[in-house]
Amino acid sequence: LFISFEGIDGVGKSTQVERLRAFAESLGREVVVTREPGGTALGAAIRRMLLHGVDGAAADISPRAEALLFAADRAQHVAEVVRPALDRGAVVITDRYLDSSLAYQAGGRELTAEEIRGLSMWATRELLPARTYLLDMDPAASHARLRHDEDRMESAGDGFQARTRQAFLDLAAAEPNRFRVVDASRTIDEVWEAIRTDCADLLNQ
Ligand code: C5P
Repeated sequence: LFISFEGIDGVGKSTQVERLRAFAESLGREVVVTREPGGTALGAAIRRMLLHGVDGAAADISPRAEALLFAADRAQHVAEVVRPALDRGAVVITDRYLDSSLAYQAGGRELTAEEIRGLSMWATRELLPARTYLLDMDPAASHARLRHDEDRMESAGDGFQARTRQAFLDLAAAEPNRFRVVDASRTIDEVWEAIRTDCADLLNQ
């Protein structure tokens, strides 16, 4: 069972990922928790380049190069972590997957959604999650939750976050079978309850 969590920064994805991990493990399932970018050693190096620049200097990465770096991270992630775990029957929970690329890289940064989707589908051999939880909330509120230092991506202003949020909502509307949109402005327990109710069925299949 392959599950992804998506949403803009600060909506609480990692907290809910840990809740789901504990829940699935309590049902006796092997669980692999992972993330993008950076779910492998190669991916961690790519993540550093994307978020913090190259050789200590901010890199002016072109939109196409950026899209390819995210796709390279994803290809390695699927080949090394996700696919082998799914093949042995584990539950794989990833903090971000291809919808992040569609929302961020195709959100007005030169490339079309079709181009990004094609790249990702090639990189992953067309592996899509069975379920994607979109944690949705107002960018001003999610930004207030962020405590760590801003990286290259997060420093892009509020208009960018609002556009990205809308891009995620559009993706969810286009694939209602895969997506569940969860109102992430509620308490951690309330958000988790919404997710648990939905995924209990999936985990029992
Ligand atoms: O969620 P996490 O902190 O790992 O994401 C790192 C940053 O990379 C986020 O700020 C997000 O804006 C960006 N990102 C992106 N495209 C992706 C995945 C993440 O622009 N495919």
